[in-house]
Amino acid sequence: MPHISSHFDSGNIVVNDVSAGTARLSIRPDNASEHMQWFHFRVSAARGEKMTYILDNANKASYPDAWENYRVRVSHDREHWTCVDTAFDGTQLSWKHTADHDIIWFAYFAPYSEERHLDGLALAQQHPGVRIDCLTQTLDGADLDRIVVGNPDGPKVWAIARQHPGESMAEWCAEGLVDRLLDDADPVARWLLAHTQWHIVPNCNPDGSRRGNLRTNAAGANLNREWVNPTAERCPEVKAILAAMDISGVDMCLDIHGDEAIPYTFVAGAEGVPRWNDAMQAQLEVFQKALVHASPDFQTTHGYPKDAPGEANLTMATNQVAERFGAFSVTLEMPFKDHDDLPDADMAFSPERAKRLGGALLDAVRALVTS
Ligand SMILES: [Zn+2]
Repeated sequence: MPHISSHFDSGNIVVNDVSAGTARLSIRPDNASEHMQWFHFRVSAARGEKMTYILDNANKASYPDAWENYRVRVSHDREHWTCVDTAFDGTQLSWKHTADHDIIWFAYFAPYSEERHLDGLALAQQHPGVRIDCLTQTLDGADLDRIVVGNPDGPKVWAIARQHPGESMAEWCAEGLVDRLLDDADPVARWLLAHTQWHIVPNCNPDGSRRGNLRTNAAGANLNREWVNPTAERCPEVKAILAAMDISGVDMCLDIHGDEAIPYTFVAGAEGVPRWNDAMQAQLEVFQKALVHASPDFQTTHGYPKDAPGEANLTMATNQVAERFGAFSVTLEMPFKDHDDLPDADMAFSPERAKRLGGALLDAVRALVTS
């Protein structure tokens, strides 16, 4: 009989019943909030058995409409994650799969592990000029890491990823950004390190990531609603990042996320902040045009509705940073589904594509600096 478990980094599943041919499962809500959509589990002893997997509580997820046209990811080597045809009947999410290995893994999106995060830091600090500091300790005792590199006299570019821990593509994107920025053979990277200083927080929510949460930290805080007067008790992560921003100053900020529902990559600006002006609008247009040019995995037709003037929610990072610093500030959203302008039938939107998009961000930032 197949055996299903999730007792590992970013694991999330509740096993309701496993019988011959069928596994009835539920997504476990975030540890201290009602949010849920992320899942990540392994199946042992399933080789050769045609199984039907059913997520019984899919309709109770944070974004139930987002299951339409979604496809679950499966891997047998934990490196490559391919799509499995998935059905949502309004209540349950289900898919059929026959394992060709003894152990397979399913996830909402290709996971980004704590070990990979640590390996990434270790690799980055081999580059001369890179400094890494710990902005704070999280409530679970994890380190909140910041990578700093570039010219301290240049404009300050912040990139913060994965405030929402279930949006693992955000950290894949941050990895791609860092990889390219530290590539000494890349002229755009060399130029940027000579002319700008970068502050990169590749994972803003390590506690939620490890716990297999979708949207909140260990205290149940949605970090991207905590950017007005963040407290050490509820969200030390945001408090520490904002304090570090106050020290460095911010000229540009990229807040990197994933969106459950929309099958496109896009950015959301800070149009609703009180100080929004023509110069900020022009910067947004320069950035978007440059990113469209740099990557067909980005577009500007589909996205969120713009906030009306003066109606921005300042508890969100992008709006708070734009208003507080007068900075260029955007939220980058990548899909859990696919980028429908350039679909990939086997992989959908993938870690590799998120990394390439992270690299392409450098072209857009350079366009902004030179505009
Ligand atoms: Zn998000």
